[in-house]
Amino acid sequence: MQLVDSHCHLDDRRYDDDRETVIGRAREAGVEYMLAIGTGEGPPDLEAAVRLADRYPFVLATVGVHPNDACKINLNTFEKLAELLRHPRVKAIGEIGLDYHWGTPKEAQVPVFVRQMELAAETRMPIVIHTRDAWRDTLDMLRAHWAPTGLGCVMHCFTGDAAAARECLDLGFHLSFGGVTTFPKSVEIREAARITPADRLLLETDCPYLAPLPYRGKRNEPAYVAYTARAIAEIRGVPVEQLAAETTANFERLIHFAGPPDSSTPPNDVGSNLGVGLN
Ligand SMILES: [Zn+2]
Repeated sequence: MQLVDSHCHLDDRRYDDDRETVIGRAREAGVEYMLAIGTGEGPPDLEAAVRLADRYPFVLATVGVHPNDACKINLNTFEKLAELLRHPRVKAIGEIGLDYHWGTPKEAQVPVFVRQMELAAETRMPIVIHTRDAWRDTLDMLRAHWAPTGLGCVMHCFTGDAAAARECLDLGFHLSFGGVTTFPKSVEIREAARITPADRLLLETDCPYLAPLPYRGKRNEPAYVAYTARAIAEIRGVPVEQLAAETTANFERLIHFAGPPDSSTPPNDVGSNLGVGLN
């Protein structure tokens, strides 16, 4: 079984004592790739995930400014992001979006979100979206600034219902489901996972947060993506091996990364990112 954890915070301090072991357990559980989210503690450090991707052949990286860090940007932030987007192991911008839960002013978040969508479009990179208590505004901005590009977009840790799922799917986006999908009360999220077409589905942990059953409340880790995979395979009435293969293929297509993890991938120029035979 080949799995992908399409969203993990491997740089988190909670792994400082046993990061190597955690990554090893993921590999034993069949996790082929891990997409390390590079928002870290926010600017000026934008390389939290790049450091890990440079070290492990099966870890790929994103770069980006999380909406809750929007106030930390400085004059160099976007220039540095543009530079990092040329790094061969950086495969997406994220997580970016809007978060009205933690009190970062909307006026600070909106321009940072827009600028990062522009950067992603310029380099033809997919984006990974974080949205919290800001669903309508996030969708409006994606509809205006992103959907017309036709480029990839992942709704990370999708926790909406079937109607919200359809709204994203209609815009051509991917939905990434995590541990919350396994919780007993997540009936509507499971319905969203059931109706998502097989070619738009991704799996993630968002570790160290939101561990799936039976580890709910504990520190999450990439290996546990297997529990979410089993739960979603069951909902969809397919063998878990099939779901794993589908979600892995979706991830590879999304990031235009089809080679073995240790092959020397070309830099992220426009040509290589467009890929061949992809739509
Ligand atoms: Zn995250």
